[in-house]
Amino acid sequence: MDREILLEKVREAAKAEKQRAIDECEKFERQYGRKPSKKEKNKINGLPARMTSLVFDKKADKFYTATSGRAPSRESFNSLLKERMPNPSLESGRDPESCAEVQAADKALNCRDNARISDLIIATVLTGDETPQVRCENCKVTLREALVITDEMAEQEMKNVQIQ
Ligand SMILES: [Zn+2]
Repeated sequence: MDREILLEKVREAAKAEKQRAIDECEKFERQYGRKPSKKEKNKINGLPARMTSLVFDKKADKFYTATSGRAPSRESFNSLLKERMPNPSLESGRDPESCAEVQAADKALNCRDNARISDLIIATVLTGDETPQVRCENCKVTLREALVITDEMAEQEMKNVQIQ
């Protein structure tokens, strides 16, 4: 699978997430005749998730997407992820369950018997500006065996910034 195609697809998913948030706010506005406050936006899920991830299962030739934020319970995750998730979290104030890439990987692993983490290729962007993001310390452990193309892209981008 071409990396550019994966990046294009995760950016499409980020755009869809931004649109979803706009739609929620417009729904509110139609109902109440005014724009929602920041607090109300939180309540109606009217803010886009910070991160958007795409997971490609290379053996099934299928894509799965997810966004960060709300953390499902650890128990609800596929056992391959559950047993690898750091406990306690390696990121202060952020649980391993809340990341977009683990939630997308969970969908992929649950959709095919015998799917392995090493079958997965992952791309994650910041939803807002769609730039590639490096995995957090939790995901580096939980998804160690996956190929994460945006880790390298983001590191390359940081190097370029330093050179300029
Ligand atoms: Zn993470």
